[in-house]
Amino acid sequence: MSELINLVGLARDELAAEMAAIGEKPFRAKQLWHWIYNRGVTDFAAMTTLAGPLRERLAERYVVQRPRVAREQTSADGTRKWLLAFADGNEAETVYIPEDDRGAVCLSSQVGCTLTCKFCHTGTQLLVRNLTASEIVGQFMAARDSYGEWPSSDDGGRLLSNIVLMGMGEPLFNYDNVAKALKIIMDGEGIAVSKRRITLSTSGVVPMIRRCGEELAVNLAISLHAVTDELRDRLMPINRKYPLTELMRSLRAYPTNNARRITFEYVMLKDVNDSLADARELIRLIDGIPAKFNLIPFNKWPGAEFDCSDRKVIERFSDELFNAGYSAPIRQPRGTDILAACGQLKSDSQRIRASLARERLAAGIVDEDHLPVPQSR
Ligand code: SAH
Ligand code: SF4
Repeated sequence: MSELINLVGLARDELAAEMAAIGEKPFRAKQLWHWIYNRGVTDFAAMTTLAGPLRERLAERYVVQRPRVAREQTSADGTRKWLLAFADGNEAETVYIPEDDRGAVCLSSQVGCTLTCKFCHTGTQLLVRNLTASEIVGQFMAARDSYGEWPSSDDGGRLLSNIVLMGMGEPLFNYDNVAKALKIIMDGEGIAVSKRRITLSTSGVVPMIRRCGEELAVNLAISLHAVTDELRDRLMPINRKYPLTELMRSLRAYPTNNARRITFEYVMLKDVNDSLADARELIRLIDGIPAKFNLIPFNKWPGAEFDCSDRKVIERFSDELFNAGYSAPIRQPRGTDILAACGQLKSDSQRIRASLARERLAAGIVDEDHLPVPQSR
């Protein structure tokens, strides 16, 4: 039997094309869309608005499949983390962070990350590949399976109400798949998570920021972490390609208003970026951009070369920003006991040797820009 096609991750027009290919009318695609994304059904036999023979024909050609849950862990604070395995054996992590009456699902966009930011555990993982739209949508569906949150209810009252693209990987290095996945997730007749409830976090891939604003208009978060090029070059290799002035210029052009501000994420590294002078320079740097801050206490991981700033120092930094008129909450670390917090994600099973990374470069699987910067480790 030829391989079955997974319908999860097909755009609406692709699903319609599949139906046309088997001689079905376009409205079948609409019905399927509802079963797959609104009801969360995986078994064609349960799709009762479709006639029996059609259900059988669909089952002969297609599947409705999420990534396999290889491991599920729940933290003492309720944070839940899944290690998800994809069809080729690669793995990535997805995290759910519950709040009182809602919560955010943190999705990964790549297996690993090519960017080797010095403070980030994900960046130490050499094997990297982009996740497909199916794998990105599938993460959210798997999380909802785990909480039995089907069918998609109205926007209010969901446990899994928000989405943050803050897991493994740099989403703007995988823009096409991320955009396709988000359009599926935002579709009002399916999963229907509004763009106002979605935040994409980027380390600052300047040329893609504009497209993200124009085509997706989701909330934007920038991993800033340093206020001089000198320090940011050292902490985040991408700054060598897109330095601070260019980054700020692209943010001034991003669609924002006072209700929709750009979030600047700032990881608090002891004696590295946490002085009052840094805070003041930060205020100067983002002047004119509707902004808010998210101060992230550094989360340690095995082998990390940094320490987290002292609580008092973080509070002083936060006060300085607050007094300049900005919201600057200190993010409460969540799920640290299961290594689910920011920057701690990594799929252990896929660590590979540097020589293999070079082979991948030679084979054209990744390009030079997307390889780890050798001198940084
Ligand atoms: N690649 C994207 C999205 C994923 S990272 C980006 O960099 O924005 C999500 C956030 O966690 C980023 O702000 C990242 O800089 C931060 N982070 C990485 N390592 C961290 C650590 N060890 N402790 C705290 N935050 C960390
Ligand atoms: Fe990649 Fe973001 Fe981690 Fe940097 S902080 S290595 S861009 S995941």
